[in-house]
Amino acid sequence: MLIDSHCHLDRLNYETLHKDPKQVIDHAASQDVNYMLVVSISLDEYQNMRRALDEYPNLAFSCGVHPLHAHETPIEPERLRELGGQPRVVALGETGLDYFYSPQTKEQQTQSFIEHLKASRELKKPVIIHTRDAKDETLELIKKYGDPDVGGVLHCFTEDYDMAMQAIDMGYFVSASGIITFKSAKKVQQMFAKLPLERLLVETDSPYLAPVPFRGSENQPAYTRQVAEHLAELKGISYEQVAKATTANFQTLFGSIESCR
Ligand SMILES: [Zn+2]
Ligand SMILES: [Zn+2]
Repeated sequence: MLIDSHCHLDRLNYETLHKDPKQVIDHAASQDVNYMLVVSISLDEYQNMRRALDEYPNLAFSCGVHPLHAHETPIEPERLRELGGQPRVVALGETGLDYFYSPQTKEQQTQSFIEHLKASRELKKPVIIHTRDAKDETLELIKKYGDPDVGGVLHCFTEDYDMAMQAIDMGYFVSASGIITFKSAKKVQQMFAKLPLERLLVETDSPYLAPVPFRGSENQPAYTRQVAEHLAELKGISYEQVAKATTANFQTLFGSIESCR
């Protein structure tokens, strides 16, 4: 089985493409994707997401504020701890730094990221880190405020091998998304070919970034399958090996999936 370690299941198009989340979850199961971590992008959205998805089994949740939303409302540390402490929440985030899309909000992103790292340390729940064009700053903040025993994941990772290995050395995992199937992403492919399998996760980041051959259409958790198959190809190993390793890695990081059912 596969686990989609990062999706925004609440943000798929339920008006015209899917009947309801159950249909999406069932389709994922038909592709060997039996569990998913649903990631929040703001504290208000977190609450809406829980209301919409709480009834479904085989889901875990994260609670946090996306770096590109960090400037909208000042980070509320108490509320983050309170909501982040709820049952079925296995991670804080997604948080991090995105200097590619929003260099003008560096200060708010940094503050927010620090609060997530502090909350992660206190709640003993890993962080989901979104990082783009902010290599040194991201590593520095992880080192200073992160808890190596709790760790986290650099999700949808597209930066460089050196950054990935520095994070891995600090106890973190790295997650591959549909980007590894893009012909234009040669560097990312070469990097994932080299990264140690025992530190990798797979994800869709759906509804964004659908892998080949679905590129351009809406992404969904079922397509974790294409990401895993492509990762296997890059590493010259079998799909089963990727599935087994990434499912085990997920549980090493976020805890047994049994407890979330
Ligand atoms: Zn992200
Ligand atoms: Zn995301």
